[in-house]
Amino acid sequence: MAALKAEEQNHLQLMEREEMDAEDDLFEAIEKLINQGINAGDVKKLQDAGIYTCNGLMMFTKKHLTGIKGLSEAKVDKICEAAEKIVNYGYITGSDALLKRKSVIRITTGSQALDELLGGGIETSAITEAFGEFRSGKTQLAHTLCVSTQLPTQMHGGNGKVAYIDTEGTFRPDRIVPIAERFGMDPGAVLDNIIYARAYTYEHQYNLLLGLAAKMSEEPYRLLIVDSVIALFRVDFTGRGELAERQQKLAQMLSRLIKIAEEFNVAVYMTNQVIADPGGGMFISDPKKPAGGHVLARAATIRLMFRKGKGEQRVCKVFDAPNLPEAEAVFQITSGGIADAKD
Ligand code: ATP
Ligand code: MG
Repeated sequence: MAALKAEEQNHLQLMEREEMDAEDDLFEAIEKLINQGINAGDVKKLQDAGIYTCNGLMMFTKKHLTGIKGLSEAKVDKICEAAEKIVNYGYITGSDALLKRKSVIRITTGSQALDELLGGGIETSAITEAFGEFRSGKTQLAHTLCVSTQLPTQMHGGNGKVAYIDTEGTFRPDRIVPIAERFGMDPGAVLDNIIYARAYTYEHQYNLLLGLAAKMSEEPYRLLIVDSVIALFRVDFTGRGELAERQQKLAQMLSRLIKIAEEFNVAVYMTNQVIADPGGGMFISDPKKPAGGHVLARAATIRLMFRKGKGEQRVCKVFDAPNLPEAEAVFQITSGGIADAKD
């Protein structure tokens, strides 16, 4: 793709500003509670607990909110009443629901065939899970999305920043450079718009998610990557009888991911590992299934299964999605990231 001409860039910047203005009504900053008579100290307590918007507040139960230090039950009641004056917590009409869906953006994967399979690309306000054998392209797609998310929406991007949580130590900033160049973008600027954290324990991973709300309420983020979502849970809970606790903690973390996706209209792309599936059937030579059980299955909006094809080719199959047919697409891993297969 050729670099953008100055004139084109000016035009795109203008359109982007208009888009951002339109998005302003999506989030209601938590500070607005002050105008409704809540004192600034209590608002600060909410922020310290990772709650930065009135929209985000409604995603917590009163029980959770009274668990925040310094917030009594009476205070929480007052806060919720005030927030209800700012955000509509109840029913909306079907037409308004449609309008809300229109704020959903689809971000290109770099491969037209894969985009078509996904109905246009990776969706914001949703969780896309990719699982599959090693070297099947899950992390390479993550790197490509880091760049394509920053493209203007007219070029099938998300016009936003990226947060990357890496639990396996496989993020390679130098990989971003040729991918940015392929899309005609400045690699330095692209790297500046990615915030990256390496997580070492499942608790660390959860705390990193809590810290994201502050960042996302300040700047437009459109993508959150968690590569992989489950690796640390599988390391940190190895003892016998720990599985139930692991699944409970995993559910807690996934629920946080869903909230981030919906509150900030962000695409969550998480990768998952595969495990042997003894119940997979005797006619399949090496049956595998995604890790994480029902807890993970329920959290993902769209589940994609990756496998190797010939050479650098890879195959993506829609495993489970509410409104997509179960179909496959072939793509290729290139130095410029994910692209259409050559033949
Ligand atoms: P794992 O389960 O081990 O994390 P994965 O699905 O994340 O695997 P990736 O790391 O996304 O796998 O894919 C690795 C593949 O990408 C390798 O087969 C490698 O050949 C290919 N690849 C990596 N960099 C390039 C590049 N610059 N050009 C072409 N192919 C590349
Ligand atoms: Mg990987």
